Amino acid sequence: MKWRIWLLSLGIMLTSVLIFGFASTQVYYNSAIDDSKEYLRVYMNYYNESYSPDTEGAKALSEKLNGARVTFMDSQGKVLGDSIAEVTENHLDRTEIHDAIFNGEGFAVRSSSTLGKNMIYYCKNFDGKFLVRIAVFTNSDWSIFAKTLPTFAGFTGIMLALCVIIAVVSSHFILSPVKKLAEQAKHGEVEPAYHELEPVAEILNERNRSIKRQMDEIRAEKELADRARTSKDEFISNVTHEMNTPLTSIHGYAELLNAGGLNAEQQSGAYKTILAQSERLTNLIACIINFSEIDNDSLPSYEVDFSALAKEMIYALKPEADKRGITINENIKDGVIVLSRHERLNELFGNLLRNAVKYNKQGGTVTVCLTERGFSVEDTGIGISEENIGKVFSRFFTVDKSHSGKNGGFGLGLAVAKKICVKSGWNITAESKLGEGSKFTVEF
Ligand code: ADP
Repeated sequence: MKWRIWLLSLGIMLTSVLIFGFASTQVYYNSAIDDSKEYLRVYMNYYNESYSPDTEGAKALSEKLNGARVTFMDSQGKVLGDSIAEVTENHLDRTEIHDAIFNGEGFAVRSSSTLGKNMIYYCKNFDGKFLVRIAVFTNSDWSIFAKTLPTFAGFTGIMLALCVIIAVVSSHFILSPVKKLAEQAKHGEVEPAYHELEPVAEILNERNRSIKRQMDEIRAEKELADRARTSKDEFISNVTHEMNTPLTSIHGYAELLNAGGLNAEQQSGAYKTILAQSERLTNLIACIINFSEIDNDSLPSYEVDFSALAKEMIYALKPEADKRGITINENIKDGVIVLSRHERLNELFGNLLRNAVKYNKQGGTVTVCLTERGFSVEDTGIGISEENIGKVFSRFFTVDKSHSGKNGGFGLGLAVAKKICVKSGWNITAESKLGEGSKFTVEF
């Protein structure tokens, strides 16, 4: 690009010099001719009738006029005397003479056939009696051009140097904002110094933005993949941990039984523990399978009468609540229809309701509200500390680790509830105050 700018400047400069050269030569030549015409007229004033109309008279007048060529002719252009050459032929065909005969005076510029040099002629008709022609040498436009060539060569040299300087400076001024733009584009948003570069800047900025978007997407995908990997590792570690306790217990009691030496009561206790722990293991496996299945559940949704389902579940849990003197208050609107699956709603609502009873105090209350906008399960139980409230929806989270696994509580119930809500596009939240109670709300 730099070279193009330089060559272009050079081309413009050379063309300008040539045009200027020809034009100024022409102007100078025309002005010289005009000047010559003027002083030829002045010369003509020197003529008077005292000069005899022959060669002698012509020479005498020529001497007076610094050697200008003087020709005397009769009224028809026949030469009577010439100060320079012996000319006898009729000059009527010469422009200046023809014009002088018919118009009183005439000018012409040409190369003299007699002298072989470029001359300017002025001819005047004196009252139709005879003609006087005065001529002086003049330069042709080509000879003027040739004379000015050395000056032009010098001028061209200066222009060339100027042109190189201008080309270097202008290419710097043109290219440096572009270079700056490219440099800025490497680091982010581009701000052009000149508004002419705005379209380029816009393209660069759009490209940068699109690259940034793609990078963000890739980063987000990578983060997601990392999180999924960590979550999978955590899940496996939690499952292994949860399985370890019943397996150790089963293994220990089986060894004791195998070794023998236990009395009947001890043997019965060992069998009961093995049975209870294997049940717990089965429960855990069922819970894990269920938890994983929700993700892969592609069964279609259908309209479920949530009001009826909620009432049925409360009814089913009543005996257990009664045992601990817990009252269940129902505030259920009839005919609330939800687009879901029966078993999923069962799990979601069942987990929250069972927890409200399970983590309640003796003689406490559970209040269930249901409308078309959602439902809530509120209890006056043990509550959850501020520190733990944010973790209750995490897998395998239990506030009291020592009770983990009791009554099938592996810390998966709320994780399942959250998963179902997320899949259905619902929002689940938990509010609680330690020692006072908890409230779980689901917004459809
Ligand atoms: P779990 O099967 O152990 O009940 P969940 O996922 O249902 O597992 O609950 C996770 C933990 O959250 C429970 O172990 C319990 O500590 C706490 N929690 C859940 N519901 C309540 C509630 N209504 N009141 C107090 N604590 C609760």
